[in-house]
Order: sequence, then C-alpha cells, then structure tokens
Amino acid sequence: MLEHAAVSPWPLSGQPLHQRDAAPWRRIPAWADLDEATFRDAGWQLRSSVRSLDGLAALVGALAPDGFLEDVRAGLAAAPMAMRITPHLLASVVWSNPWRDPIRRQFIPVGSELEADHPMGSLDSLEEERDAVLPGLVHRYPDKVLYLTLDVCPVYCRFCTRSYAVGADTQEVEKASLAGGRGRLDQVLAYLRAHPQVVDVVVSGGDTSMLPASGIREIGEALVRLPQIRRVRFASKLMSVLPQKVLSDQAWLDALTEVTRLGRERGCEVALHTHINHPAEITVHTLEAAKVLWQRGITVRNQSVLQRGVNDTPEVMSHLLRELASLHLRPYYVYTHDVVAGVEVLRTSLRTALEVEKAVRGSIAGFDMPVFVCDVVGGGGKRDAHSFEHYDERMGVAVFRSPVVDPERPFFYFDPLSSLSPEARSIWSDPERRGAMLQRILERAGMGVRQ
Ligand code: SF4
Repeated sequence: MLEHAAVSPWPLSGQPLHQRDAAPWRRIPAWADLDEATFRDAGWQLRSSVRSLDGLAALVGALAPDGFLEDVRAGLAAAPMAMRITPHLLASVVWSNPWRDPIRRQFIPVGSELEADHPMGSLDSLEEERDAVLPGLVHRYPDKVLYLTLDVCPVYCRFCTRSYAVGADTQEVEKASLAGGRGRLDQVLAYLRAHPQVVDVVVSGGDTSMLPASGIREIGEALVRLPQIRRVRFASKLMSVLPQKVLSDQAWLDALTEVTRLGRERGCEVALHTHINHPAEITVHTLEAAKVLWQRGITVRNQSVLQRGVNDTPEVMSHLLRELASLHLRPYYVYTHDVVAGVEVLRTSLRTALEVEKAVRGSIAGFDMPVFVCDVVGGGGKRDAHSFEHYDERMGVAVFRSPVVDPERPFFYFDPLSSLSPEARSIWSDPERRGAMLQRILERAGMGVRQ
C-alpha cells in the first residue's frame, strides 16, 4: 500500500509555505457545517464554483480585507478571462492577505495589479488558429496534433494561453467557439487516417475533466484503435482545481482507466497531463487522487507555468517539484508565461526562468527535473529556454529558431516591460524605434531581414 503520510509540507528553507488542512472548507463561514462527502463531490464543486463578484462576496466578503472586493471589480472589468473558481481552490486561499496569495493571483484578477500589455502580446500569441487544419485541430509538429475537444473548464486561469477561445465572453473579449461533438470527432479521425505520420494526439480543451465519461471513452478508444497512434494525452488541470473528480466520479475514472488499459494492450501510451503551479494547490484531496491514479497505473505528468509572485523563486519551485515527484505527478515542463494579453503582471523575464532552472537543477533526480521551455511567440512551438540564438536583456528580446516548424523564420520571447529600464521602455513605446531595434537584434541573431 502506498503511503503519502511522509510527503513533507516543508520547503528546503525550513519555513512553512503551506500547511495542509484536513477540512479546508471550514475556513469559509458559509461552509462551516458542510460535511466532507459534499465537499469531495465533483458535481457539488462545479455547481458551487464562483463565477461573479457577488458570489465571491457572499463567500469571502467577511474574510477579505477592506478594499479587496472593489479591487476585484476593477480587475474583472479589464480581464480577458471570465472568473470561475472551484470551492476546492477558494478554500485554500489565505483570505487575510489575498493580494499575496499564489492561488488568488492565478485565478482572481485585481485592478491594482494591472500592467499595460506588451506591444507584441496578443490573445493567441502561439498562433494556434493559424495552424488549425480543422476547427479545434492544431497540426504544427509533423507527428503530433492538438485536439481541442471543448471550450469549458472547471476554473478559468488568468494565464490561459487559449483565452481567445476558452471560457465565457468577457467585457473585453468575444471568444472563438470550439463546439462540435461526434461530427467533429469523425472529422478528426478522417484527418488522422489521411496523415499516418501523426502518432501523437494531445486531447485538450478547455479541460477534459469536463468531458462526460462517455466522451473520454469514445474519443480515447477511437484514437488508440487507430494503428498509427502511439501516444494519447488527456490534458486536465483537475489535480490542482478539482481532484474530487477522481474521488467521486467513478464512471469518468473508469473510462480513463479502461482507455489506458486498452492503449497498453495495443501499444499506445495513454497519460493524463495535469497542471499544478504552486504547492498550496496540493491539498489532502490532491494527495488522495494521486494515490488512486498511481494505483490504477495511470501515468500523470505535470506542466507548470512560471508566474511572477507565484512560483518564480528557487525555494517555491524546488518545493513544488519535490512534492510532485513524491506523488508520481512527474514534472515534465515549466513554461515561461506566454505573451498573452491582459496578464502582464504574471509574466517573468526569460532570465528569471534561466536562474530558477539553474538553482533547482541537481536538487532532484534528473528524470523528475522538468525542461524549462518558452512556447515562442509566432507559433514556433516549445523551445528549450536556453536554446535562444540571441538574448538582448537590455531590450528584453530573445530570438529562437524552430527548424522543424520553419527553418527561416525567427520566433521570439519578450520580457515584461516592467523588468526593463525607462530608456528601453521608451524605445518600445515608439513604433519606429521599436522596429529598428528589433531589426538590429535579428541581425545580431544572424536572422537577417525580418518579414
Ligand atoms: S484549465 Fe487550462 S484551458 Fe482551462 S483556463 Fe486553465 S489553462 Fe486554460
């Protein structure tokens, strides 16, 4: 029997980052008398998720400091993502100081944190819509496709790279639609049959925890039965935001388990790719869900997004990686935050990513050490953060090549303007000087004339 009691809640520095509470929901006055069976029910979690300022005020208004809710009102008015947060996460926020809390920072925008967008930012900085061969099917790498099955999630993350499509429309953004159902699956299967070089399918969204059990089974079985397919990954943030799905939705868990077993019989690896960014997201229910998945033989990998004020220090990242590894949620990637609109305050410089990576490498077994990557602007895909052709730290511009995607085209990562000097910011604010500056940087990178 696997025991998780030994998982340490303590970081290397010896200071507690997060005390794991057996009944965190009791911190919320309205849930003080709630029984555990209700809180661990995924249906209740979804029905009770908070989607409005009024809903938030009703639950935490008495706990949050003066001025916080007004700050949220201002944040929501400018946000590209609608707000949705599960009780599971809401109960883990330290409401006495929500401004500093790493969970609040990722899911609830506040006006006092607004930072002007980078001039090179956009809603779809990875240009997924450009590489879509069908609605919701992105084919960028030769052997892999990304199948976006739906556009809803149990929560809406401020840093979402798909804020162009995921979630409800906001005051700022009208979303692209990913609706479809069985007809779209048939189109995807026909595309895959016509492209036998594709052996790897990422089934994403939105979040695949929102697919019914029948959807997991139908999509999973159809994919693993295609003789060419060797890897299928279901992407879901459930281990952070809704681990109750694993604990209470037996039909969904059984569907994932059976697709995994069928895949193993047919030589196709099926895995769950999840997304935890901070140790405070790992609750007692996350521990329990990790144990269930491990015992069912389901491979789980974790992808994190490096975010300013959330996990951009060696101490927090090291603590996170050790906890993930202990739970067999294998650390896979740490992404620099995409240059998406509306969340500049969460982005770090590339330098920060390089320094955090350097500090934590060696603190954990190599196979549990994630690769730090930039999903580069313009759709070049994920590039090792160290693999830039040239990095001009004064102007905050890194130039990458992505030979498999396009050997001639430069791809970029841009540091947040707030990390630059006033002089560098003034160059960025002037379109003419900006163009000349980018041209010079491209020449230094050996990339010639920029189209
Ligand atoms: S769960 Fe994933 S797809 Fe949904 S909002 Fe968060 S990052 Fe985006």
